[in-house]
Amino acid sequence: MLIILSLILYSSKVKIKTLKTSLSYEINTNKQLEISTKILKLSIIELQTNVNDLNKTINTLVVGTKPIANTLKTGEKEVYLTFDDGPSDNTSKVLEILKDNNVNATFFVNGHPGYEDIYKQIINQGNVIGNHTYSHDYKTAYSSISNYNQDVNKLNSFLEGIGIPRPTLMRFPGGSNNTISNNYGGKDIMNKLTSEEIKKGYQYIDWNVSSGDAEKMTESKDIIIDNVMRGSKGMKSIVILFHDSNPKTTTAQALPIIIKNLKERGYVFKTLSINSPIIHFK
Ligand SMILES: [Zn+2]
Repeated sequence: MLIILSLILYSSKVKIKTLKTSLSYEINTNKQLEISTKILKLSIIELQTNVNDLNKTINTLVVGTKPIANTLKTGEKEVYLTFDDGPSDNTSKVLEILKDNNVNATFFVNGHPGYEDIYKQIINQGNVIGNHTYSHDYKTAYSSISNYNQDVNKLNSFLEGIGIPRPTLMRFPGGSNNTISNNYGGKDIMNKLTSEEIKKGYQYIDWNVSSGDAEKMTESKDIIIDNVMRGSKGMKSIVILFHDSNPKTTTAQALPIIIKNLKERGYVFKTLSINSPIIHFK
């Protein structure tokens, strides 16, 4: 009897021990599962963040590499005349020439109080205004991202004050690959600014043909014509850089000939918009 009892007791002990072992195994497994779940949750969050970043990069890339002239049919050619740094007294002459030739252009303007009527005339004639900062001063604009945005906003407020809506287009003073800005905002300032302004909803446009009218205070009219006609040879879609600040009198003189020549080459004149071919140096 005693032997039987001892055997039962022993067998119960063994059972309890086995139960304890399997229970502790389960507890451990549960703990491990909890840890794994936490790690998994963290990984998912990380993945989501990465996907978001990737989407942003894709957007920037799509915007940045939108093919030039992607909407053009075979044989079609387009030209975007752009005038920077105005308005000035010269702008009235430019506007008259555009009107006489039944074409429009895009003006990347700065802040020039006293020329309010000219800003309005630019718009009323069907042209487009883009932001080229209020000051066009490299130190003022390029010392930091917040300084740049302040300068851009100052021009926006000035334009809104005379009834012109906030532009969606901008052109960086000196273009998006200028290096003078590095002296004020550091080596990376243009990289930071180009992505920052796209994020803010602006589109910045550089150019693929330069009239060269900024090479000298007042460049010769014939050189300006030659620069444009040679620079645009064989191109389907051209964005030409001109200036309409006060000393650029020869630009206005060259303009009727340039328009005539481009028309003869079959170009259609258009104004820039957020959907136009995007020309980015950077
Ligand atoms: Zn400029």
